[in-house]
Amino acid sequence: MATIFSRIVKGEIPCYKIAEDERFFAFMDINPVAVGHTLVIPKREDDYIFNLGDEELGAMMVFAKKVAKALEKAVPCKRIGVAVIGLEVPHAHIHLIPIRQESDMDFKKEHVHMTEDEFREVQQRIVENL
Ligand code: AMP
Repeated sequence: MATIFSRIVKGEIPCYKIAEDERFFAFMDINPVAVGHTLVIPKREDDYIFNLGDEELGAMMVFAKKVAKALEKAVPCKRIGVAVIGLEVPHAHIHLIPIRQESDMDFKKEHVHMTEDEFREVQQRIVENL
């Protein structure tokens, strides 16, 4: 069965899309730990990031870098934190999180509540900076 992220790539489930190329896709996390929290995934389904081949993993990180640079400009922050968890969705992904301090990376703290309009507004700012 297709993962929820594969269904997002196919357009079967809506998302706040940030970027895509032939192999990778970036969209905003629906339950963000910080404003601008974005996920980068390979379109090809693979459960675990460290099962990706060397070339694919490298290319995914280069794709993530472009998204991170746009995020840095779009959202007030010191830098972009990177996390790999993958316990919830079995489709390899990188979390890109705009941070000011270490605690901004804490997935256990209360997440940010954003309205649809707020998501759209931040999405637009990030896309404009790509
Ligand atoms: P993890 O697999 O533990 O890295 O967590 C999966 C992440 O995917 C969580 O941060 C979720 O909020 C996020 N997520 C799950 N479903 C969606 C969705 N439909 N759209 C955007 N983000 C999602």
